[in-house]
Amino acid sequence: MTNEAYKLYVDEVVRRVETARLNVSGHHIVKTVAVSKYSTVEEIKALYEIGQRAFGENKVQDLKSKAKELEDLPLEWHFIGNLQKNKINNLLDISPSLFHALDSIELAQELQKKLLAKEMTLNCLLQINSAKEESKHGFMPEEAIEKYLQITKECPNIRLKGVMSIGAHSKERESIKQSFETTYAIYKQLPNATICSMGMSGDFELAIESGANMIRLGSILFNE
Ligand SMILES: *Cc1c(COP(=O)(O)O)cnc(C)c1O
Repeated sequence: MTNEAYKLYVDEVVRRVETARLNVSGHHIVKTVAVSKYSTVEEIKALYEIGQRAFGENKVQDLKSKAKELEDLPLEWHFIGNLQKNKINNLLDISPSLFHALDSIELAQELQKKLLAKEMTLNCLLQINSAKEESKHGFMPEEAIEKYLQITKECPNIRLKGVMSIGAHSKERESIKQSFETTYAIYKQLPNATICSMGMSGDFELAIESGANMIRLGSILFNE
């Protein structure tokens, strides 16, 4: 694809996001994080040239190397993957703008310790396993609010900003929608939460219409 063709292609994705957002309300602002986990730095640069600023990776090592290679560009990096305790220091070295997948109390406690030692804070989202799937990480919906409050209280260097969820692994629109609605209902009950991160390439319109204000788009933005 030529640069011009790629720009027109991305414009079409942006239009779809815009249409879904306006179906909710003109006041409903949605931020797109471009998930670059399968992409090269050249591809990230091409999307940057079109105007994209927020990028997400799901492996600490990839985040580190891409952020370093692209350090001259004013990019905003998100870490969207599950974080192993032995990778915390590596992640903190990059100081990402948002960590989307805080998924256990043990991880929160370990993260708090390391943040305190480094005199840092980190913006985080609580990951919710809204469809209660074995294969997925995250807090169960019933416990999410209590754990969110517990982390807010016990881990002052963790700045919880809201929730993240991956839509139900299903072909049925209704089950996916239900999983998004479960996450959104939790989000609405959290004090001072401002970010509801849900929706990927295959389901972002449904996520936005269910209340998402941050979507994570990978394949649809990068794979022509
Ligand atoms: C890979 C990934 C995405 C993007 O997925 P696509 O279907 O390629 O848009 C979003 N969120 C998380 C947590 C991911 O791991």
